[in-house]
Amino acid sequence: MDLFNNGDHLPKFSEPWNFSDAVLVVEDKQFHVHRSILAISSPVFNTMFQSGFKEATSTEIPLPGKKAEKIYELLCMIYPFPLQISDQHDVRSLLELSREYQISKLTSRCEERLLQKQSSVELVILAQEFSLKRLLEKCLASLARMNFQELKNCPNFDNIEAENLVCLLNNHLRWLKEQHAREIRQLREQFLKEKGRALEIANELNSCWGYNKLPIRGCACASYTKSCDNCCTVLEKFVKTKCGELIEALQQNV
Ligand SMILES: [Zn+2]
Repeated sequence: MDLFNNGDHLPKFSEPWNFSDAVLVVEDKQFHVHRSILAISSPVFNTMFQSGFKEATSTEIPLPGKKAEKIYELLCMIYPFPLQISDQHDVRSLLELSREYQISKLTSRCEERLLQKQSSVELVILAQEFSLKRLLEKCLASLARMNFQELKNCPNFDNIEAENLVCLLNNHLRWLKEQHAREIRQLREQFLKEKGRALEIANELNSCWGYNKLPIRGCACASYTKSCDNCCTVLEKFVKTKCGELIEALQQNV
């Protein structure tokens, strides 16, 4: 993000504005800020501005070791402007600063943002580092549905903490069991369907004798008549066809 030049709707912090009453000095940049806003957001700043600390009276507050760009992002997040955390933001840096300045609301917003991303080993590592419980839970649940060999090949896999690895493995086992049960259920349903079809054909064969269940025979007999050639030919054909169907239905089951 180009510092001090990211659209008109965001404050630049580069000069005094709206009763700003403190200046954060980061690298060679000055950020004109409001003690009250920082104090509301961060217990660390709140303490810093209390009497007894030199930050309470001095206007300039140096933040040594910080990057101006990252502090700018932090300020944009804690000032009351409707700014969404996006891919342009360095979420890790926001998390680090939120932790240092104890801005728990911003930590939650970072977690919300990360929850929208696809689960990955990298996110597990990040969740571990910053104690993002919901993110950790979500990632461990969805990674459990991956091929374990693929998962093991992810860089950083070895950095998953033992406790979380156990959780991941437990989830994976549970998922495998569920999948196994699903497959068995499907096979059983398929088997029952095929068995039903075979039974149907066997019943047709069984009931063609003696009853007038044969297809049109082209003769005048009211029902199957042993002495009639026509009836015998049709019966033979019927039995052959049904036996063929039965064999086919049983073979599908193999
Ligand atoms: Zn006949």
